[in-house]
Amino acid sequence: PLEGRVALVTGSTSGIGLGVATELARQGAALVLNGLGDPDEIEQIRLDLARDHQVEATYSDADLRDPEAIRQMMAMAHDAIGPVDILVNNAGIQHVAPIEDFPVARWDAIIAINLTSAFHTIRAVLPRMKAEGYGRIINIASAHGLVGSPFKSAYVAAKHGVVGLTKVVALEAAESGVTCNAICPGYVWTPLVEQQIDDQAKAFKITPEQVIKDVLLKAQPNKRFATVEEIGMLTAYLCGPGGASITGAALPVDGAWTAH
Ligand code: NAD
Repeated sequence: PLEGRVALVTGSTSGIGLGVATELARQGAALVLNGLGDPDEIEQIRLDLARDHQVEATYSDADLRDPEAIRQMMAMAHDAIGPVDILVNNAGIQHVAPIEDFPVARWDAIIAINLTSAFHTIRAVLPRMKAEGYGRIINIASAHGLVGSPFKSAYVAAKHGVVGLTKVVALEAAESGVTCNAICPGYVWTPLVEQQIDDQAKAFKITPEQVIKDVLLKAQPNKRFATVEEIGMLTAYLCGPGGASITGAALPVDGAWTAH
């Protein structure tokens, strides 16, 4: 259903972004990948996606802390594959520390990557989407875009900001056929989470199963991780005809975490 569409997914070299890019390619969209990591591994990801799904795929190594690098990525995407119809702002980082100890440079980096980069990508694609009468902007926020947790000041502030930005973009674009939504996952099974489980099991001298149940999934009532495939399928749904009237929403995918 997404044949002929061009999708740009930030932070798509791993985890949720890669899951989203994979599902969009499976449905026929051409891809612009972005993210940090080993260039050879990233090139392999790009080749695999293009071959497995018979779609065009290109890659930008833009560091999303840098507005000029974002501008160049958006121009490259347009020139290499075509105008972006689907924009998924997914890249994000985390830092956990009490406010008094929170490193100022980490605060700045989290706000830049998790929030400000979405402003830059959105403003680059919106005029053409509006003129075209179709566009899908999906911001991967978090349950932490809806509720707070201690020690995650920058992340929670950025993700609440993303939810706010989502609403404003939806309102400004409401009559144009362009929708903008936030997806708010609780815990999703990614390499990042897997690593946290091993680290915490060692640190607290408990089993990985205990870390999952008593630490990570404590706040997630359904006691299961969402999968990157599930986030990919929801994203693809929002891009299709069923998503035409869903805009300005912050959609929890959190096993009832934020229902508390
Ligand atoms: P991940 O670490 O696996 O992937 C993050 C991606 O962002 C990678 O591709 C990385 O290279 C890229 N990235 C990081 N800094 C960058 C920079 N400066 N410039 C360009 N790219 C950069 O993480 P993930 O778990 O897949 O998370 C993806 C998004 O989902 C994030 O916004 C995160 O906050 C959100 N999220 C994740 C979970 C979860 O449980 N995993 C839950 C809720 C929300």
